[in-house]
Amino acid sequence: MIFNLETIVRKNILSLKPYSSARDEFSGKDGVFLDANENPFGELNRYPDPYQRELKQNLGQLKKISSENVFIGNGSDEVIDLTYRIFCEPDKDNVIICPPTYGMYEVSANINDVAIQKVDLLPEVFQLDTDKILAAINKNTKLIFVCCPNNPTGNSVKWADIKKILENFNGIVVVDEAYIDFASYQSLITQLPNYSNLLIMQTFSKAWGLAGARVGIAYADAKIISLFNKVKPPYNVSELNQKAVLKALDNYPEFERMKEIILKEKELIINKLKELPKVKKIHPSEANFLLVEVENADKIYNELVAQKIITRNRNNVVKNCIRITIGSPEENQKLIEALNKI
Ligand SMILES: *Cc1c(COP(=O)(O)O)cnc(C)c1O
Repeated sequence: MIFNLETIVRKNILSLKPYSSARDEFSGKDGVFLDANENPFGELNRYPDPYQRELKQNLGQLKKISSENVFIGNGSDEVIDLTYRIFCEPDKDNVIICPPTYGMYEVSANINDVAIQKVDLLPEVFQLDTDKILAAINKNTKLIFVCCPNNPTGNSVKWADIKKILENFNGIVVVDEAYIDFASYQSLITQLPNYSNLLIMQTFSKAWGLAGARVGIAYADAKIISLFNKVKPPYNVSELNQKAVLKALDNYPEFERMKEIILKEKELIINKLKELPKVKKIHPSEANFLLVEVENADKIYNELVAQKIITRNRNNVVKNCIRITIGSPEENQKLIEALNKI
């Protein structure tokens, strides 16, 4: 283990004195609150808990992890952006990403003026090219993004490869587990005590059905989480969004019910797709979507759109592939009918 946190955090962030909000200076619940210039009337008149304590408590119980290892963001997008801002010096540092993968890692790098090194996933199997990744690391490499299960390919990368990178990198390995709830294997959360440079991202946008609420999660060593708390906007997760998540966490059977339907539907669609001659390959998926290779992706995508079925054309990323999200039973039925008409 060669990791040393202090050596990779931006100097201005290490020395940053964070904004101290009214709710930082007094966090009790009882009293007459005349400290934050709020309006005493109305329903959403009070600022939300800046550290989302109740949410972290409930989520922590579910994930068997302490609140000090949890950060809540305004979607994973905020977690990604803050990770850049904490560790990457603009116009100097670089990160490694492994295409084809989620587009936000690159966009966020560009916004923060951070250079990108691309080390493609191995063709066909979409596994990490570990030797190439390790060879690409230089003294300014701060982050390596690994998406597992990966979007848009749907597969998972091998733990042995992630482990090798974690052990040989003085920087943060970000493992994006947006689709972990659909996967047949466990989250890497249990590995956090062993790797202080591991940062795991999850989200309420997919399996929890709360994409509209914008709530993303980072799990990491408490020292990393405290850096996130320093840099984040004081009230980054609204009261409405915190409430939406608390309600969903309170109704765990509904989460399981939705997930079971989606996974069952996934098997059904796979079987239906296999019967179609225009389908060349269905890539193995641990997520709630399928990357499907067809004869002519542009044509099939457009003909589906003409029938009001919207999939994602990934032809530019993986040749002749479209990415299909698993919908409700009715929606999936319409998809299959539409494909049959083409
Ligand atoms: C959908 C998705 C997310 C979720 O992003 P949010 O900002 O939390 O909605 C994160 N990572 C990947 C790879 C995704 O596909």
